[in-house]
Amino acid sequence: MLPLVALVGRPNVGKSTLFNAFTRTRDALVHDEPGVTRDRNYGYCRLDEEHPFVICDTGGLSDDEEGLAGATAKQSRSAAEEADLVLFVVDGREGPSALDQTILKWLRKTGKPFFLVVNKTDGLDEQACVNEFARFGAEVVLPIAAAHQRGVPELLQQILPRL
Ligand code: GDP
Ligand code: MG
Repeated sequence: MLPLVALVGRPNVGKSTLFNAFTRTRDALVHDEPGVTRDRNYGYCRLDEEHPFVICDTGGLSDDEEGLAGATAKQSRSAAEEADLVLFVVDGREGPSALDQTILKWLRKTGKPFFLVVNKTDGLDEQACVNEFARFGAEVVLPIAAAHQRGVPELLQQILPRL
C-alpha cells in the first residue's frame, strides 16, 4: 500500500489548489466559496516517480459541527487518522485564526506527525508569514504559494523522508 498524506485546514486556505499541484490534475474543485470539497478526494502524487504516495484532500474543518459542515469535519478527522503524515494548511495572508488554533489542538491530540504549510505567500515576505505561525510549535513550517506551484518541490523534499 502506498503511504498516505492528508491535507487538513479550515476552508479556503488552498488545500484543493495544493492537491491539484501535487497530483498535476484539476480533479479537486478550487473555489472562492469556502467549503466546496465535501468528501475525501484521493489522488496520486507522482512528482517523484520513485516515491509515489496518495494524497487526500478534505473539505476543511469549520466551527460549525452541524449538518454539512459537521459531515465535512468528520471526513477531515478520518483522513487525518488514516494518514501517515498530515499537512496542516493555513493562510499566510490572513495569519493565524481562532479556527486554526482549534484545528491545531485537535491535531495535537491525534498524535499524528504534521507539517504546517503556510500558503498564499505570493507577493509577501515569506519569513514574516512563517514567523506569524511560530507559536504553533510545528516541527516543520514551510511557506508556499500553491496557486503558483511555489514551494511545492521544497515541500515534497520534506515529505518524502517521512513516508
Ligand atoms: P480550500 O477550500 O482550502 O480547498 O481552498 P481552495 O484550494 O479552493 O482555494 C481557495 C481560494 O484561494 C481560491 O480562490 C484559490 O485560487 C486561492 N488560492 C489558493 N492558493 C493560493 C495561493 O498560493 N495564492 C493566492 N493568492 N491564492 C491562492
Ligand atoms: Mg477544497
